Amino acid sequence: MAKKSWFKLKRFNRFALMRLGILFALLVMVGMGGWGVMMKMPGQSYTGKLPPLTPTEIDLREALKQDVKVLAEEIGRRNYLYYQGLTAAANFLESQMVQAGYRVQRQSYPIEQQTYDNLEVEIPGRDRADEIVVIGGHYDSVHLSPAANDNGSGAAATLELAKRFVGKHPSRTLRFVQFVNEEPPFFWTDQMGSLVYAKRCKQRQENIVAMLSLETMGYYSDEVGSQKYPIPLGLIYPLQGNFISFIGNVASGNLVRQTIASFRQHTQFPSEGAALPNALPGVGWSDHWAFWQQGYAAVMVTDTAPFRYPHYHTEADTPDKLDYDRLARVVYGLERVIADLAD
Ligand SMILES: [Zn+2]
Repeated sequence: MAKKSWFKLKRFNRFALMRLGILFALLVMVGMGGWGVMMKMPGQSYTGKLPPLTPTEIDLREALKQDVKVLAEEIGRRNYLYYQGLTAAANFLESQMVQAGYRVQRQSYPIEQQTYDNLEVEIPGRDRADEIVVIGGHYDSVHLSPAANDNGSGAAATLELAKRFVGKHPSRTLRFVQFVNEEPPFFWTDQMGSLVYAKRCKQRQENIVAMLSLETMGYYSDEVGSQKYPIPLGLIYPLQGNFISFIGNVASGNLVRQTIASFRQHTQFPSEGAALPNALPGVGWSDHWAFWQQGYAAVMVTDTAPFRYPHYHTEADTPDKLDYDRLARVVYGLERVIADLAD
């Protein structure tokens, strides 16, 4: 009994110290004018009533809903333990992109007895082909979760955005990539699909000028208190989980500001952005992290996942939890951000 409470005390102290440490580090950065660099974003988050969906947004909503249904309901679990599901998801995404008119490249790599595939399509740039913009999301699921939001939403968005750019002739090269193995046990390891991909880019000396990581984007709530944050960001950001966020590390600050400025200019939808130290919980929790490791600028576009979504990483992450109207607004907004990045 005594031993137990002693452990509890020690654990409490360690967490308290860690939090104090993070708070202190943030205060120092704020003191040094870091606020301007990390959190001050161009433009204003949209606050009015959302306008009626446009015909394009209605089309997108239906397509996204259908994609998420296939991934999270018809296929369901899709990862190294549910390998058949993983293969079915890759085949579905590939066939959709082929149908849209793309030639799909598979980047395959083995882990033990199984092969894993990143799927890539490319639109070569018109006059700045060596400058590459990568849009990507992961299509694997965590544990036993059907993974409708994490990351059926991001995989569907990547797919539908790729379709929207068929026949376009951007100045820079555009790539849409479906990444495998983002979830544990591969997360932040050499076997993570996006890290395998980003390493190959580096080896080939490719000039990735921007990477957008589409991660868990489908859950929204207008309730005050529906949005949580790692300490102490709750003091600064909204408490309603009704916005889309653009998150980068400090080195990707320019890209964060560029993307959110473009989004806010084109899209009547609440948005928040920050370029934060990777040490803060959540900041590096997806495929953009892999590009940071290779020295590229990358930004995650997310509903903030565990900081908002009650069904994060559970078996209850099913297609009915997503808000397809708002997801469609965000995806159409991203289409115009990508068009700006590519020209
Ligand atoms: Zn996840």
